[in-house]
Amino acid sequence: MTPHRILVVGAGFTGAVIARELADAGMRVDILEQREHAGGNAFDFVNEHGIRVHRYGPHLFHTSNMQVVEWLSRFTEWLPYRHRVKALLSDGRFVTLPVNAETAAIVGLENVIDVFFRPYTRKMWGMELEQVDPSITSRVPIREDLNEFYFPDDKFQAIPKYGYSALFNRMLDHERIRVQLNAPFQPGMEREYDHCFNSMPIDEFFGYTLGDLPYRSIRFHNVTLPLPQALPVATVNFTHDGPYTRVTEWKHLPGHGYPPWHTTLTIEEPCDYRANNNERYYPVKDRGGLNRDLYRRYAAMASETMTFVGRCGLYAYLDMHQAVSHAIAAASKFVARCDAGSTMR
Ligand SMILES: Cc1cc2nc3c(=O)[nH]c(=O)nc-3n(C[C@H](O)[C@H](O)[C@H](O)COP(=O)(O)OP(=O)(O)OC[C@H]3O[C@@H](n4cnc5c(N)ncnc54)[C@H](O)[C@@H]3O)c2cc1C
Repeated sequence: MTPHRILVVGAGFTGAVIARELADAGMRVDILEQREHAGGNAFDFVNEHGIRVHRYGPHLFHTSNMQVVEWLSRFTEWLPYRHRVKALLSDGRFVTLPVNAETAAIVGLENVIDVFFRPYTRKMWGMELEQVDPSITSRVPIREDLNEFYFPDDKFQAIPKYGYSALFNRMLDHERIRVQLNAPFQPGMEREYDHCFNSMPIDEFFGYTLGDLPYRSIRFHNVTLPLPQALPVATVNFTHDGPYTRVTEWKHLPGHGYPPWHTTLTIEEPCDYRANNNERYYPVKDRGGLNRDLYRRYAAMASETMTFVGRCGLYAYLDMHQAVSHAIAAASKFVARCDAGSTMR
């Protein structure tokens, strides 16, 4: 027996992909989204100068998972783009990040940790390098060649031709999907449905009964300058001790507009999520794993008719391709269980 009424909480990549998969399988899906727009943190818009800006920071699509690329390509064409990042040194020079042979030669291999990792960790995580989980810092390798690309190995690197918001509009345009914006989940709503896929923060769902799961957030400061272009590459990281981590100039991304007299930049200032209107971006991986343990205790409280998904439902940092791949897997598993007749209450 196939359940026909599904509730999805959150219209980010996770919720939207699940909704589309289940609608394609014949189910009726209601999506609740508390923000005024779909797209989650990948949401973008074109500003008054004709420049496309990603409201929640630069989103670069990169993957070697060609199944994900094929799946998304039903809803978008792509513009090839390989991201480059420079770090601004205290003497005004720009060097390539992640650290390559040239950067190491300029800065000195023995100084790499103190110049790049230590101040960045303090700003980004609000912790000393020794306090964060080693997996976070090991994600940024030191290269021995002169490669300048930020994602040197991923087979597919591109930006949706008409932006992420257009991709979402097409993905959610389905007769069996209903999207409600400005609609935060309220306790008990799930009882009207056969199953709920929930990408809201799991601790919020359970009323914080076991305590808060910590997150880092970012305040985004947008500035438009009367200049054709300001930076040598799309993103420049700061190595100083000030509060800002990096700046992105949108014009460098293909299809993001190129007005002759103006350029828009976004500067990022990390902070605790409670200092930024509860905007949760990065789950905090502490060295002792206490946050992960707390997450597991919340996850164990979920009922059979509720599947927690996505960045805040799983309390895991997911790149977009990983969010899409997890979502396809969660939806497929659910459809298979329904076909086997085991999910109706
Ligand atoms: C600053 C930043 C930069 C990033 N850059 C990249 C990048 O370059 N490349 C890359 O691959 N990935 C990047 N990511 C990761 C990317 O944003 C995630 O992969 C993606 O957002 C995950 O989608 P999601 O649906 O799981 O979560 P989200 O996008 O967060 O979507 C969850 C949705 O649920 C909604 N919601 C939450 N609570 C409720 C509630 N109670 N009721 C109703 N709705 C609710 C939220 O409003 C949100 O829209 C970046 C993330 C950040 C924060």
